[in-house]
Amino acid sequence: MMKTVIIEEHGGLDQLKFEEIPAPKPTEEEVVLRVHSASLNHLDIWVRKGRGGLKVTMPHILGSDAAGVVIAVGSNVKNVNVGDEVILNPGLSCDSCEFCSRGEQSQCLSFGIVGMTRQGTFAEQVAVPAQKVHPKPDHMNFDEAGAFVLSYLTAWRMLMTRAQLKPGQTVLIHGIGGGVALSALQLAKLAGAEVVVTSSSDEKLIRARKIGADYTINYSKVDDVAQCVRDVTSGRGVDIIIDTVGAATWHIDFSAVHRGGKIVLCGVTSGPQAPTNLQMLYWNQLTILGSTMGSDEDFRQMLKAVTTAKLKPIIDSVISLENARDAMDKMEAGEQFGKIVLRVFSD
Ligand SMILES: [Zn+2]
Repeated sequence: MMKTVIIEEHGGLDQLKFEEIPAPKPTEEEVVLRVHSASLNHLDIWVRKGRGGLKVTMPHILGSDAAGVVIAVGSNVKNVNVGDEVILNPGLSCDSCEFCSRGEQSQCLSFGIVGMTRQGTFAEQVAVPAQKVHPKPDHMNFDEAGAFVLSYLTAWRMLMTRAQLKPGQTVLIHGIGGGVALSALQLAKLAGAEVVVTSSSDEKLIRARKIGADYTINYSKVDDVAQCVRDVTSGRGVDIIIDTVGAATWHIDFSAVHRGGKIVLCGVTSGPQAPTNLQMLYWNQLTILGSTMGSDEDFRQMLKAVTTAKLKPIIDSVISLENARDAMDKMEAGEQFGKIVLRVFSD
């Protein structure tokens, strides 16, 4: 048996239950991890609520990120051994469709994510395909290692693969404090960009400056966020916008981006529907880019960069697995600055 956080139906925070269920056994191609640390993503909220008609097999275990130790391996597994300290790439692909054949695993026709399309990591143990586990970076502890993959991978693909960020370019990141936004700030600075961030919290903006943000805008205190962005970029606007917010920021993007600039969207925490100024789109020759998670190549490049630079995720708090409801409540309120870690084992 193992302790875990499950939902038995979609809904509010009260659907989260801390229970004991049978521990998983690996198939021939899988490994079982003893999870030391997992971390929350917005995806966990969407899955819990069943957004977009998403249906999962109940009872369902949430959670996509994890770091832990391999405790069992299937008979065909060659790449890891029992006792290995590992991280998980939670993106799941078929490896045979036209998109996988091209190396675009996050465009796979049957793309899935651990914690969404199969049982997740908010548990003492999780069974996952062996190909999705990789050695834990030496410079990170388990809490850090369990908190960086999904948000760094998403931010990496947005900045490097989709927007093709170059040193010296300017980047606007909305809503600094969330995992992807902070990862994008760290990675954009690593790549030599100048970064503008926004928040409604002065405290979060001060912390963002300490991580490298060049300009900060408190959007609750100004009338025109796009004008503020142009003011700090000599009237020019930014080259790239990293948008995880959606409806609430979409109209700002079109006025804050430079001619020929790129708007990259990976999430819609404020909603999925927003009017688009098509005249600004064509006249200013803008590029709109959608982005989801990352390919295996994105993952490899991201991990290399993070390991070489000894980059670590910003941790907001570490909360025990049994208090997952408090952790999720905090994220839904948007109070966090960085990743909220769920500590499962701490030896
Ligand atoms: Zn595929």
